Amino acid sequence: MKKAIQITFLGTNGWFDSPTGSTVCAVADTPECVVILDAGYGLHKLDSVIDQQKPVYLFLSHAHLDHTVGLHVLAKFSFARGLTIFTPPALRAAVRRLCAQPLTVPLAQLPFPVELRSVPRRFSLPGGGGIALPLVHSSVCFGYRFELSGRTLAYCTDTGICANAVKLARAADILITECALQLGQDDGGWPHLDPHKAAGLARQAGAKQLMLTHFDAQVYRTTAQRAQAQAQARQVFPQARVARDGLRICV
Ligand SMILES: [Zn+2]
Repeated sequence: MKKAIQITFLGTNGWFDSPTGSTVCAVADTPECVVILDAGYGLHKLDSVIDQQKPVYLFLSHAHLDHTVGLHVLAKFSFARGLTIFTPPALRAAVRRLCAQPLTVPLAQLPFPVELRSVPRRFSLPGGGGIALPLVHSSVCFGYRFELSGRTLAYCTDTGICANAVKLARAADILITECALQLGQDDGGWPHLDPHKAAGLARQAGAKQLMLTHFDAQVYRTTAQRAQAQAQARQVFPQARVARDGLRICV
């Protein structure tokens, strides 16, 4: 049976691109719309996996460059029904500055209509909607919960453990969260998750599946290290899986 939402991981690194992948970006292709989760360099692969005839929505968690550097490739796309970019309200101005000369093609000059919006706490999308809540990171950072086509998808990165992450992921069909740290690694005051913490979040929230992404490129230098992280996460939450660039799953 064909599932309602297809999720493709286009970039699964945190911080910088490396042989393990591009910086973080995922896309959820639903029957009614396309939802992009963050705009790391993985964004450049988007047109190989989606139908550009659907309305496209991009949700930015925060403005750190590993989540926004891909914005400068927007000019290669031809979204027939336009693009809406949602940012945490406090970061809208920063994103506008990033998408402008002298850095890149301004949003108003892209070959499709673009709307840059501060995300409201509750939002509607074709086929459903969702909520946005602040996470705990070194800058303003939001997590999202989407209810689309009868499925619930939570996206929480970058973050430490916090009550809002649990709330967003409560009983979700899938939680996509980060695994920047190795097991037991100190976050140095820059909140992130390790395999046990990420898995503990999924377990506490009662999520059905967990996908780990945003592996710090300096810490996770090989896919074997990611496999080890998966084994560690499964000690806490057996439905945990690590993402890799190009991985496609159905929810
Ligand atoms: Zn990051």
